Amino acid sequence: MALRITDECINCDMCLPECPNTAISEGKKVYEIDAHRCTECVGFYEAPTCMAVCPINCIETDPEHVEDKAQLLEKFKALNII
Ligand code: SF4
Ligand code: SF4
Repeated sequence: MALRITDECINCDMCLPECPNTAISEGKKVYEIDAHRCTECVGFYEAPTCMAVCPINCIETDPEHVEDKAQLLEKFKALNII
């Protein structure tokens, strides 16, 4: 499933350059994740790299975008044209 950023985000910019799918952007209030681009880092890393760098742990799974690993891998392939 894709991840989402909660309202607790402090806009520190740590996560944005780390996303291999360029799924993170500056939102109107806090940073946002594009669910159509987030693969939970499947295809690149073992674990979500944005979660690893966020200093306040305000990135969580998004229950509105439930996907299993196979679906995330398909999304990765589509995004990266492999
Ligand atoms: S989990 Fe990975 S792909 Fe998804 S937003 Fe975070 S860094 Fe990007
Ligand atoms: S690393 Fe965390 S606090 Fe910083 S911009 Fe990203 S989501 Fe917000």
